Amino acid sequence: MEPLTRPRQTRESARLRVIDTWEKIKPLDAPINGALIDEARRLKERTNAFVVVHTYQRIEMKAIADAIGDSFALAKAAQELPAGKVVIHCTVDFMAETTKILRPDLTVVVPSHYGGCGLADYVTGEQIRAWRSSEAARLGIPESELPLVLYINSYANAKAEADVICTSSNALKVVESLPHSNVLFAPDRNLYYSIRNRTTKNLIAWEGSCPIHQEFTLEMLETALDRVERGPQRGKIGIMVHPECMPEVLDCVRGLRYVNAVLSTGGMITFVRAHPEIDIWIIGTEIGLIESLCQEHPSKTFLPVYEHKSCDASCVCPYMKSVSIEGVIAVLKALSEGNVAAIAQHGKLIEVPEQFIPRARIAIERMVAVGRGDGPTGY
Ligand code: SF4
Repeated sequence: MEPLTRPRQTRESARLRVIDTWEKIKPLDAPINGALIDEARRLKERTNAFVVVHTYQRIEMKAIADAIGDSFALAKAAQELPAGKVVIHCTVDFMAETTKILRPDLTVVVPSHYGGCGLADYVTGEQIRAWRSSEAARLGIPESELPLVLYINSYANAKAEADVICTSSNALKVVESLPHSNVLFAPDRNLYYSIRNRTTKNLIAWEGSCPIHQEFTLEMLETALDRVERGPQRGKIGIMVHPECMPEVLDCVRGLRYVNAVLSTGGMITFVRAHPEIDIWIIGTEIGLIESLCQEHPSKTFLPVYEHKSCDASCVCPYMKSVSIEGVIAVLKALSEGNVAAIAQHGKLIEVPEQFIPRARIAIERMVAVGRGDGPTGY
């Protein structure tokens, strides 16, 4: 058995699980079906459903959304959700859990059975307890002097061990909000890397990474830049990548002579709006965000860092994309018939064990109170 102070998986095993999940989802090039969108809207009106959609989702999911956003925006929105609603959470399990922790009064359903997260899988609450204990002993300080900042991409059992949650929009601001000089940071080592030189705190990082963003290599970035610089289209170039990308990618982007930023998905949307002079954007994150930007700014060009091929797993989060409009319709139909067994057949009813809720809720509420930290100028 692996020691508790070591991550539960390797980068390679996380990657293989992504590929395995990728094979189970609806093809990404399936045409958008307006009739299905209409049907989902009709069913939504008939039921008491509220549809929450992450920015990475398919275009058809965004067409039926009552709320769209990144994980910070969705956590904030959860606090304000109307009472008595059934929340159809078109995201992944850890995000739906966050809503359930903040709003245990609501029924929350993820319309998929594959809504995992390769990053959240890296750490458990039990591991965090062992890690905090061993690091406090190593530093010769009481455990109470060693707070944990936990990335929101984690499960409820881990959140219940956190002092405060952060998202990629406010990791630095959350770390800086603590009075302590030593801080544990988990589970994303790349997010840690993106902020470690901007704080005076002694940050101690867990070894986890997002199996999607870790696939963006320096070589892909250089190829994308080369394509744009030598290509026929002329115009001002900008480049943005997500802080879950690998350190060498983050360093390279920050050193470029073009307008550049390392930002959360919500931060990228704001950054593009703040830079109307840029004609061509190169972007390193999940493809759903790029699709949203293309819709909002049809006169601009948005290129992924990677050259996406439908036979590879890079740039597409299969956990997010395991949600489909057909799945949402099946859940909404079951809901309209009051058929709980059918809801569970087509989706996952999110339950968070009672013992995790109070502490996890405090940690999330602290994060929301700190606010976003990635305005139009980046971190
Ligand atoms: S993109 Fe990465 S961190 Fe986000 S849900 Fe997918 S696996 Fe998890």
